[in-house]
Amino acid sequence: MVVMDVGVLGQDRTDEEWETMLKRETTLLKMGLSGVEAFVLAVRCMYRDRPDSGDDRTLCLECQHAKRKQARCTKAQVYLPFVLQRCDLFLKVAA
Ligand code: SF4
Repeated sequence: MVVMDVGVLGQDRTDEEWETMLKRETTLLKMGLSGVEAFVLAVRCMYRDRPDSGDDRTLCLECQHAKRKQARCTKAQVYLPFVLQRCDLFLKVAA
C-alpha cells in the first residue's frame, strides 16, 4: 500500500503557482471533490504546468467542449473532469 503524505506536496511552489493552484482547488471543491482529492489534483496540475514537466495531459475542465453543469462533452467524447488525459479534440479554455 502506498501512503501519500499530502503535507509535502507543492512545497516547492512559487507564489504564482500557489495562487493558480488555490483557484483550481476551489473549483474542484465546488465540483464535489473532497478536500484531499481537490488538493492533490490541483498540485498535480501545478507540476504539469511547469515548462519542463513533459506532461501534456489535460482535464476536461480545461476544455471549451466541456459543459460542466451538464457533466458532458459537446463532442460526444467520454467526459472525465478529474482525470489527466490526452484528447485529440481538446481545445483550451481562454485564460
Ligand atoms: S473534447 Fe476531449 S478534452 Fe474536451 S471535454 Fe470532450 S473529452 Fe474532454
